[in-house]
Amino acid sequence: MRLAYLDWNATAPLRPEAAAAMTESLARCGNPSSVHRFGREARRALEAARAQVAALVGAAAAAIVFTSGGTEANQLALRGVAGRRLLIAAIEHDSVRDAAPATVVPVTPQGVVDLDALERMLAADPRPALVSLMLANNETGVIQPVAEAARLVHAHGALLHCDAVQAAGKLPLDVGRLGADLLTLSAHKLGGPQGVGALVVVADVPLRALQIGGGQERGRRAGTENLPGIVGFGVACAIAARELDGYAAVATLRDAAQRRLTAMVPEARVYGGNTARLPNTLCLAMPGVPAATQVMALDLAGVMVSAGSACSSGKVRRSHVLDAMGVPAAAAESAIRISLGWSTTPADIDQLAEAWGALYARRRASAA
Ligand code: PLP
Repeated sequence: MRLAYLDWNATAPLRPEAAAAMTESLARCGNPSSVHRFGREARRALEAARAQVAALVGAAAAAIVFTSGGTEANQLALRGVAGRRLLIAAIEHDSVRDAAPATVVPVTPQGVVDLDALERMLAADPRPALVSLMLANNETGVIQPVAEAARLVHAHGALLHCDAVQAAGKLPLDVGRLGADLLTLSAHKLGGPQGVGALVVVADVPLRALQIGGGQERGRRAGTENLPGIVGFGVACAIAARELDGYAAVATLRDAAQRRLTAMVPEARVYGGNTARLPNTLCLAMPGVPAATQVMALDLAGVMVSAGSACSSGKVRRSHVLDAMGVPAAAAESAIRISLGWSTTPADIDQLAEAWGALYARRRASAA
């Protein structure tokens, strides 16, 4: 059976060049902390990868702290910057939502953070604050006004953390222009391996390591570095930077998919479609048909997507993102997330449209 992978926001395929660099790295012996020649070679590979990751986001190499992924980087930012009250947007990833007790900033029905509400919340309490606002949402693809939020946050003497896991490699990204003090990246969303990420510590903020017991990563994250993973991350970042201009073309396929699916199912709903969105993401509901039913029907037809609200346990639960946007529960429960990537083809979209259309036709036939 032909397979169409349309779940790139869950994970992207490993770039072959990253896999090759990782294989080479795995074959070498050397701890970057050792002073002998093998150690120095490992250190050179580590620092080369650090420079590649930093270049993707316009940061200094010294700002990069390698972690085990986006989840750990978010934890490090939110729990490592001590002594500040925390404000987070209502649509943040669970790794932000569950990091520490926080005040929740609402979003508009389009899924964009309410900056007036943020300003009121900052003004209401003079204690030093840390605000966490993602650059693009994983479920809807909606892009957040991070630069504007940064200006506001800084005017109130607060710090801004930005989870850029879904945006990196899909949108041009420059930490200086963005104004974020801390930025989270994850390798596997942009063509690197799973289990590697980074916290970019842009501002000179005191950061308490969460993982202790060694001086690695300038004392900000103890433990021997995952060198092959980091090398793969670096290569994936270099490719993403090189191919960024071409990535916008993914929107042509996404838009074609949206037009086709909504024409086929007149009562279909698109969430986050009337505001700036990632070029690759489509959050779509077939009202009355549970997301899990759609995901399974599509999977049987060789098309891989996820429920808008897929959680890490693989079960489907109500989406806090759609909830925050005021989407009624019944509609939210029928939302799926279709996400494309650099190797998605028109044939993948044909396969999706045929399978979704066939499910709709079956449901209508059984309801008649
Ligand atoms: N932040 C966002 C917005 C994500 O979409 C994800 C992964 O789904 C993460 C953080 C977590 O990243 P990782 O899988 O590398 O832990």
